[in-house]
Amino acid sequence: MRKPLVAGNWKSNGSYAANQTLITDLMGPVGELGRVDVAICPPFVYLDQVAKLCHGGSIALGAQDVSDQDRGAYTGEVAADMLREMGCTYVIVGHSERRTLYGEDDTFTARKFAAARQHGLIPILCVGEQFWEREEGITESVVARQLDAVLALEGIEALAEAVIAYEPVWAIGTGKTATPQQAQAVHAFIRTRLEHQNPAVAQKIRIVYGGSVKADNAAELFTQPDIDGGLIGGASLKASDFLAICKAA
Ligand code: PGA
Repeated sequence: MRKPLVAGNWKSNGSYAANQTLITDLMGPVGELGRVDVAICPPFVYLDQVAKLCHGGSIALGAQDVSDQDRGAYTGEVAADMLREMGCTYVIVGHSERRTLYGEDDTFTARKFAAARQHGLIPILCVGEQFWEREEGITESVVARQLDAVLALEGIEALAEAVIAYEPVWAIGTGKTATPQQAQAVHAFIRTRLEHQNPAVAQKIRIVYGGSVKADNAAELFTQPDIDGGLIGGASLKASDFLAICKAA
C-alpha cells in the first residue's frame, strides 16, 4: 500500500506573520495524523523560516520550482542543492502555472526533474490538460506527452522515488474540481502507462490529484484506488481546511 502524500502549494502567498500562525496551528495536529505524509511548499524566500518552524515535527518542506542548472551564473535561479541545503525534501516541477504563464515546456521540465533528483530531492511532477484539450478528447495524449519527456531523459527507474501530480488545468484555482471518476480515470491511465515499462515502479509511485481540492471533496477523491493524496493550492492557506484535507487522506 502506498502512503498518501498531501502537499500544500502556497504559490506566491504568505508573509512572516501569516506563515508563523499557519505553521504553528498545523504542527501539533499534523503530528497526530499517522499514516499520511504532509509537506508544505512556500515561496523560496520563506523556506528558511518555514524550515525552522517545522523543525522537529512531521511536516516536510518542499519548494515550488527549481533551476534546471547547478549553481553558477544563472541570475534569478535557485539550484537544487541550495534547496537541499535549506532542508527541502520535495520540489514541484512543471506546475501548470510555470508551463502556461512562463512558457516552460516538457523538455525544460524534464531537465528540472533531473536536477532535483541529482541532488536528492523528490520531484513532484505536475501533468494535466487544459480545458480545450479535454473537450477535444486529447487528455490522455497530453498527459502521456508530458510524462514521456521525463521518461525519455531520465528513464522509468527515476520515477521510483518521484511523485506525479495530476492537475487538470481547468480545475486549478477555479473551484471546478474534476469528479472523482474523471480524476481516477487519468490516474489509472498514468499508472498503466508506467506499468508497461516497469510494474514495480508503477505500483510504488504516488500519483496525487490537484485542482480545487477542498475539505468537502477530498475524501471522495482520495478513496479512488489510484489517487494517493493531493497537491493543494488555495485550501492549504487555511489551517483548518488543510488539516481536514490531510485527515481525509
Ligand atoms: P488549487 O491549486 O488547489 O488552488 O486549485 C492546486 C495547485 O495549483 O497545485
